[in-house]
Amino acid sequence: MGAAIDDLESSWRDFDLFAPTPEHQLLGETLRAFVDREVEPQAAEYDRAERFNHGLFRRAGELGFLGVTLPEAHGGSGLDAVAAIQVFEALSTSDPGFALAVLAHSILFAQNLAVNGNEEQRARILPKVASGEWIGGLCMTEPGVGTDVLSLATRAKRDGDVYVLDGIKTFITNGGIDDETLGDCFIVYAATAPKKISSFLVEKGMEGFRLGQLWKDKLGMRASLTAELVFDGVRVPVANRIGEEGEGTLQMMRNLEIERLTLAAMSTGIAQRCIEVMVAYSGERKSFGVPIREHGQIQRYLAESFAEYRAARCLVYDTARRIDLAATGQRHDADASKPFASQAAKRAADAAIQVLGGYGYMGEYVVERLWRDAKLLEIGGGTLEAHHKNLTKDLARNPALTRA
Ligand SMILES: Cc1cc2nc3c(=O)[nH]c(=O)nc-3n(C[C@H](O)[C@H](O)[C@H](O)COP(=O)(O)OP(=O)(O)OC[C@H]3O[C@@H](n4cnc5c(N)ncnc54)[C@H](O)[C@@H]3O)c2cc1C
Repeated sequence: MGAAIDDLESSWRDFDLFAPTPEHQLLGETLRAFVDREVEPQAAEYDRAERFNHGLFRRAGELGFLGVTLPEAHGGSGLDAVAAIQVFEALSTSDPGFALAVLAHSILFAQNLAVNGNEEQRARILPKVASGEWIGGLCMTEPGVGTDVLSLATRAKRDGDVYVLDGIKTFITNGGIDDETLGDCFIVYAATAPKKISSFLVEKGMEGFRLGQLWKDKLGMRASLTAELVFDGVRVPVANRIGEEGEGTLQMMRNLEIERLTLAAMSTGIAQRCIEVMVAYSGERKSFGVPIREHGQIQRYLAESFAEYRAARCLVYDTARRIDLAATGQRHDADASKPFASQAAKRAADAAIQVLGGYGYMGEYVVERLWRDAKLLEIGGGTLEAHHKNLTKDLARNPALTRA
C-alpha cells in the first residue's frame, strides 16, 4: 500500500489546486503583471470619483481577460472555471469595483449567453464582448423584487415577430458606463406568463430602452456603475429570445454556480490583499519597543484571517475544479463557497483596519476601500440568507452530500 502511494506521489503531490496546468500558471503570471502595472495605479482614483475605467476595460479585453471561459471560436480563451476564479481573485486583490464590472460583463452576461444562447446569438455578440468593444450586463433585480425572483414584474408580451417588454430593473452593474451612456447589451429576465420567466437579449438603441437613474454614493464597488434601466414598450425581436419561452429559471440555474464561485473568488482576492497589508504593517509599526506583530492580540487578527482565507480559497478552487460550466449539480458547494468566502473577506478587511489603527481608516492604506467593497459580496448575486436557504434545502434533499 505504502509503495503504491509512493509510486503515485510525484503525480498527486505535485498537483497545484490554485494553478493545476501550465495554462493556469501562465494566466496567473499575466494577471499578476496586469494587476501590478495597470490596475493598481488607478484603483483609488476611480473609487473616489465613482467612475468606470473604460480604457482599462478595453485593455483587459485585449489581454483576453474578458473572455477566459468563452469558446475560442467566438473570441474567448476556452478555459475552465479555475481560470475564471484566477481572474476575479487577482483583480480583486487590487480593485474589486473594477472586478465587479468585469464579472457582470463576462460571467453574468457573456458566459450566460455562451451556455444558453443559440449559435446565431453567440456568433453575433460574443466576439464583441470578448474584446470589450461592447459592454454587457444582466438584469434580474427590480425595485420591488430581488431574492424573490419568480415574482418579478417586468412583462414580455408576444406581438407577432416581437416581444413587447415593459418594466424597470435596478442595481444593474454596467447598466450605465458614465452618467449618460447605456451599456451595450443585456440579458433581461421578464415574465411571459405568471411565474414563467423568459430571457431576452436587449441591445442599446432599441426604442423604449433607456438609462434611468445611476445610483450614486454607494458604500463600495464604486469603480463599477450601478444603474436603473427602463423598458418602456421595448420591441425585442423574437430572434433575441434566449432559449424557449419559460426557460429563464433553468437558464439562471445553469450559470449560477460559476456566478457564485467567481463572486466568492472576489472575496478571496480581497482577503489575500488585506492579509499582505497586515503582515507588512505589523512588522514595521512599533509600540512599547517592539513591532506590533509581537503582541498576541495582533497575532490573532493575522492568524485567524489567514486560516479563514486559506479555507475559503481551497473550497472555492476545489469547487471550481469540479464544475462543468454548461451543467448544474454543484449548487451546494457554490452556495457554501460564497457566504463563507464573503464573510472571511469582510472579517479580514476589518482585522486589517484594526491592525493598522488610525492609518487603516485612511484611504491611502487601501484596506478601508477593501472593507467597503467586501460588504457587497454578502448581498449581490444572492444574499447570505438566500445561500443558507438553498444549502439547507439541498442538504435536506440529499444528506449524502456531506460525505461526497
Ligand atoms: C452594487 C450592486 C450591484 C448589483 N448588480 C446587479 C446586477 O448586475 N444585476 C442584477 O440583477 N442585480 C444586481 N444587484 C442586485 C442584488 O443581486 C440584490 O440586491 C440582491 O439579490 C438582494 O435583493 P434585494 O436587494 O431586493 O433584497 P431583498 O430580496 O429585498 O432582501 C432584503 C433582505 O431580506 C432577506 N430575505 C429576502 N427573502 C428572504 C427569505 N425568503 N428568507 C430569509 N431572508 C430573506 C434578504 O436576504 C435580505 O437580507 C446588485 C446590487 C448591488 C448592491
